Amino acid sequence: MTILRVALDVPLPRTFDYRVERATPADVGRRVVVPFGPRKLAGIVVEVCESSEVPPERLRAAHALLDDLAPLARDWLALARFTAEYYQRPLGEVIHAALPPRLRRPEPLRLGPTAYAITQAGRAAIATLPSRSLARRAALELAAAGTVPADSITAAVARDLLARGWMEPCPAPPRTPAFIAPHALTSAQAAAVEAIRAALGTYRACLLLGITGSGKTEVYLHVAAAALARGQQALVLVPEINLTPRLAEEFAARFPGARIVTLTSAVPDTERARAWLAVQRGEADIVLGTRLAVFAPLPAPGIVIVDEEHDASFKQQDGVRYSARDLAVFRAHAAGVPVVLGSATPSLETYQHALTGRYTLLELPRRAREGAALPAMRLVDLRTDPADDGVCASLAAAVRARLERGEQSLLFLNRRGYAPVLVCGACAWTAGCPRCSAHLVVHLGERALRCHHCGHAQPVPRACPTCGNVDLVPFGRGTQRLEASVAARFPDARVMRIDSDSTRNRGTWEAMAASIRAGEAQILIGTQILAKGHDFPNLTLVGVLNADAALVAPDYRAPERLFAQLMQVSGRAGRADAPGEVLIQTRYPEHPLYQALVRHDFRGFAQRLLEEREQAGFPPYVYEASLRAEARQMADAIAFLQRACAGAPPLDAAVTMFDPVPLTLARHNAWERAQVLLQAGSRRALQTFLREWSDMLYGAKPGAVRWHLDVDPLEF
Ligand SMILES: [Zn+2]
Ligand SMILES: [Zn+2]
Repeated sequence: MTILRVALDVPLPRTFDYRVERATPADVGRRVVVPFGPRKLAGIVVEVCESSEVPPERLRAAHALLDDLAPLARDWLALARFTAEYYQRPLGEVIHAALPPRLRRPEPLRLGPTAYAITQAGRAAIATLPSRSLARRAALELAAAGTVPADSITAAVARDLLARGWMEPCPAPPRTPAFIAPHALTSAQAAAVEAIRAALGTYRACLLLGITGSGKTEVYLHVAAAALARGQQALVLVPEINLTPRLAEEFAARFPGARIVTLTSAVPDTERARAWLAVQRGEADIVLGTRLAVFAPLPAPGIVIVDEEHDASFKQQDGVRYSARDLAVFRAHAAGVPVVLGSATPSLETYQHALTGRYTLLELPRRAREGAALPAMRLVDLRTDPADDGVCASLAAAVRARLERGEQSLLFLNRRGYAPVLVCGACAWTAGCPRCSAHLVVHLGERALRCHHCGHAQPVPRACPTCGNVDLVPFGRGTQRLEASVAARFPDARVMRIDSDSTRNRGTWEAMAASIRAGEAQILIGTQILAKGHDFPNLTLVGVLNADAALVAPDYRAPERLFAQLMQVSGRAGRADAPGEVLIQTRYPEHPLYQALVRHDFRGFAQRLLEEREQAGFPPYVYEASLRAEARQMADAIAFLQRACAGAPPLDAAVTMFDPVPLTLARHNAWERAQVLLQAGSRRALQTFLREWSDMLYGAKPGAVRWHLDVDPLEF
């Protein structure tokens, strides 16, 4: 009898055995449909063996071994296994989360052809098509010029043209990727490219530390070209879905003839499954994507690139809580290829590796464009130049000067909505979220109160629910309120607000960015959405409002994030020939963070922060993990954690376990949340402890408590 050992997406840290008539070790990595209780599940074969510990009469038979795609490769399974072990999640859950949704279903995948060619009838039809048949004409013209990959036309058009006999399925077009390098590299870029190129074929982690505008992308393009020239593929990870279309365009323009595949959660399911298969078959030269793309099944990755490696969005915040940045390094190491971590403000973890020589430090200290200066940073002391409706006199004057010169200004306020709190002036009642320990944010346009943590929404009350006072006051300032006051102060200016409320519809941000570039807005008001990626050549002034709030945040990572955010938003000013200016409104102009920012001194800032972290015993000098529990009542969550601690395996001397405490945002979406923090001087000791503890936790009955382990947590 042959036994399949199968990883299934169930919350148990083990595999499951099934009988099968015939299977060989070559079936490891195949999808298989199996019975699980009354359900049918799709799993992945992780082992084929001859015997099972399950008694034969209780062994169930697998429904079907699927051969709709090639088995997942051994190195891919090793990546999944490492993820499962390191982040303490069941292997089946990791694999399931890493696969595109269509491959998680317990049924064979039917995707249709990978490419189309035009027929004689199709050629004849082009001339006779009515002019309103735009989509069909476009598809036929594309096909007339050469084989068309299936993902470049919509399924409906393809079906129609196949039915008419105007197109026929054919194998994927052969690719002959070329690389275009239109301008010479700066000496710093050339040195970085050379160092990475020299490492191709071996593992090496490189930190590409380059200020905004220093041309990191150019380095990525060149080293990707070098990997392609070796017949290998490039994997490029970016933090934001919004950034992928533009990056894909940039890569497409520079790599004519190459197949570039985008993998993000925004890609529709069928397209994503198709993209995944193309990658697995080796038909993709370059894979671009967000964190989930770290699991792209590349057969021969030659280089791994992580842009904006410090960005918190590389860490998954639910389910399998992996860091795509860290997995990218693991993957490069396992594959024996270089990994490039790029940032103007790297995470302290990465930066410290560069200081100790574990990572190679490559620096791009200057802007790539000849003569392009860094923006002049100025701190405006709110104690002597107080803000009026959020904006102080010197910032208002700077905006006015831009208006007169026909240039654009950006006011950066990282808080959306009209006002963060609604207060009763009579009894001090504030509007709170019924499901979270958070204030409801006033959204004036829709006359709603919204929770930015759980999405709860309710109308703005007419009167205070406690005392009946009708004079409720929106307190504090969000982007909507700033937009209104700026529009009142500059009545002739065109003001545009850019935040996740104004860009909710897919594609809207692209449209807004285009209209900004076309000069349709003179004053931009925006959150961090605006800080990333897009360049507006006519934007010469950035005003930063209310950055001080982050200085007093309880999270020890807050200064690191604030510095990164302010560096990033400053980088928006003065990209072209016009020099940029950045004004930061603050009550603490002497604060070392601001002082370092004014000097554009990441390294000095990071050095100081590292010393503080070392003294206080925080990462990267210790490793952290936390056990989180969520229950309807806080007492239940705490009690669960207390029991978990009491029953924990003996602690290694290197591991410290703290008492259970509520999370900073204790109540979220009607769940009360608490955690136990673990710190360790040794990653190995922490991992050993977590493995034993996690086995015990999975074995226990949690009752009405939900729990998970978060390894290298970012949020507290
Ligand atoms: Zn009241
Ligand atoms: Zn809420």
